[in-house]
Amino acid sequence: MQAYGETYPRTAYLLSLIGGILILFFSIIYAALLAVIASFVGALGYGFASGLLIALAIVALLFGVIILYFALRLKSNPQNARTYGVLILVLALISFLGGGGFYIGAILALIGGILAIVWTPPAMAPAYGQPMMGQPMGAQPMPATPGAGPPVAAPGTPPPGVAGGKFCSYCGTQNAPGARFCAKCGAAMPA
Ligand SMILES: [Zn+2]
Repeated sequence: MQAYGETYPRTAYLLSLIGGILILFFSIIYAALLAVIASFVGALGYGFASGLLIALAIVALLFGVIILYFALRLKSNPQNARTYGVLILVLALISFLGGGGFYIGAILALIGGILAIVWTPPAMAPAYGQPMMGQPMGAQPMPATPGAGPPVAAPGTPPPGVAGGKFCSYCGTQNAPGARFCAKCGAAMPA
């Protein structure tokens, strides 16, 4: 996946790099094996065929080197990622036909090339680094507004009761206006 903010086609670079290394690695093995075989069968008249195969291995080796070079360019010069992607893709395709990198290397480079072609440079990608929606910069919990909290009765004041109600002379409880007896203690309320 392509994440915003990448300054170079990272996945394309890595795949092309590994692909190039594999093509290089297997071409060296092919060349070495064929050289050994050629030295044995050369006297039997197969020298030309072996030479041809060694030549192919050297071509594969060159392909590996060039793919590696373009992979490195993807990172160092991402502005031209599309151009390098096309070059990697073409080289990888030809390499694949020759079984480059035991096919795995060619396939990796192929995918790398395609990813480099479709890669969007950061300048053309949607702007990133904007503050996240719904989360303004420096958002903090609202400071408690003085007086906004639940009202707390000042010490010494009588408990909230019925406005205008009379206070019981016995226990001090404020009762409803017109109450004849205290609701708490039952004492007769003053008239
Ligand atoms: Zn009372």
